Amino acid sequence: MGKIRMSVPLVEMDGDEMTRIIWQMIKDKLLLPYIDLNTEYYDLGLKKRDETGDQITSLSAHATKKYGVAVKCATITPNHARMEEYHLKQMWKSPNGTIRAILDGTVFRAPIVVKGIRPCVKNWKKPITIARHAYGDVYKNTEIRVTGAGDAALSFAEKGGKSRAEEIHRFDGPGVIQGIHNTDRSIESFAKACFTYALDKKQDVWFGAKDTISKIYDARFKAIFEEVYERSFREAFEQKGITYFYSLIDDIVARIMKSEGGMIWACKNYDGDVMSDMVSSAFGSLAMMTSVLVSPDGVFEYEAAHGTVQRHYYQHLEGKETSTNSVATIFAWTGALAKRGELDGNKALIQFAKKLEKATLSTIASGRMTKDLALITSLKQVKILSTEAFLDEIAGELSS
Ligand code: NAP
Ligand code: MG
Repeated sequence: MGKIRMSVPLVEMDGDEMTRIIWQMIKDKLLLPYIDLNTEYYDLGLKKRDETGDQITSLSAHATKKYGVAVKCATITPNHARMEEYHLKQMWKSPNGTIRAILDGTVFRAPIVVKGIRPCVKNWKKPITIARHAYGDVYKNTEIRVTGAGDAALSFAEKGGKSRAEEIHRFDGPGVIQGIHNTDRSIESFAKACFTYALDKKQDVWFGAKDTISKIYDARFKAIFEEVYERSFREAFEQKGITYFYSLIDDIVARIMKSEGGMIWACKNYDGDVMSDMVSSAFGSLAMMTSVLVSPDGVFEYEAAHGTVQRHYYQHLEGKETSTNSVATIFAWTGALAKRGELDGNKALIQFAKKLEKATLSTIASGRMTKDLALITSLKQVKILSTEAFLDEIAGELSS
């Protein structure tokens, strides 16, 4: 049988450390034997980012805009230690931040559910996807430490117009104040991304905020979601038999805990930060979380939710055996290949992606897994595999 051909390239963003090692193994063992892989390759490894003054990162994001689909390996976000380790010219920004700024997207994180790894919330049967709004609120706040008595006010000066001010509090002693904001434009693109992704996945959208208390701020989120839904999505949702549901955030939390899962949970920035850690740890492991950035105009960038697994990489460099879980990175590839297949009408590519996912999951379900999963599995017969041996077992499963 000939290899599967791809008519349009997939944007491939290579990365750093242990995930870079895994990246090459996945290509060699799982993809290249079956696909005539057509990628436009961008090396986002830290060395290359430094050499190109980080131009490579912007180029890769613009290529993603052009072709519509990218797959990204985990990358180092430099800090002071990395400046010295890599003799960097500059402390380059987080590639994910740069890419997100160019694509203007929302990040969706979903656990990979597999037999033998049970979520600790026992009624959760299907994955819960967290969609986190990635702009504003307390992440772009202005704060003042109040040292003594005085008046705090919130003011806004309209360009070429009037100014207005509202009293916050009359302090008679020390305290704190905080100013936060968001924009209609950002909230609207968040809502569009959530609804677009829901149509793609055929899953309901749940959104919670606190509009009973925050009658202007959170109420604006609620209103924009409703407007966007009614204007552009209701019809398509009804056709697909999915729904949009809004309730107060505390009510949503209670319902999520009692649900079977299987929905997209749209979260305001802070709620998303907190809830994505809750959902991922309840489902098992960060190494079993996929992450996809979806732009409002329907561009998709797939990656693993974890980092470059630095500790394992240093062991690898010392020649020691590692047991790094490659599942999230494999699923980043299958997500991207299936999306490419869907956009290009390439059925063989979609089928291959599904088959590789199945082979990966059945390898684990049969008791062959990396150490991180062996520690949390409910299976009795378990064989702990090295990074490479695990991929070899999947390759065997795939070819059988
Ligand atoms: P990390 O790479 O996510 O790893 C933290 C720890 O989690 C690991 O030491 C390991 O625990 C466990 N772990 C994570 N992924 C695993 C996997 N696939 N298989 C097995 N265990 C796994 O986070 P980090 O070490 O804090 O960060 C390393 C680098 O990644 C940093 O330079 C950071 O900037 C970057 N990063 C990149 C992204 C991204 O590109 N999206 C995201 C986050 C972090 P044990 O050591 O206990 O085995
Ligand atoms: Mg967090």
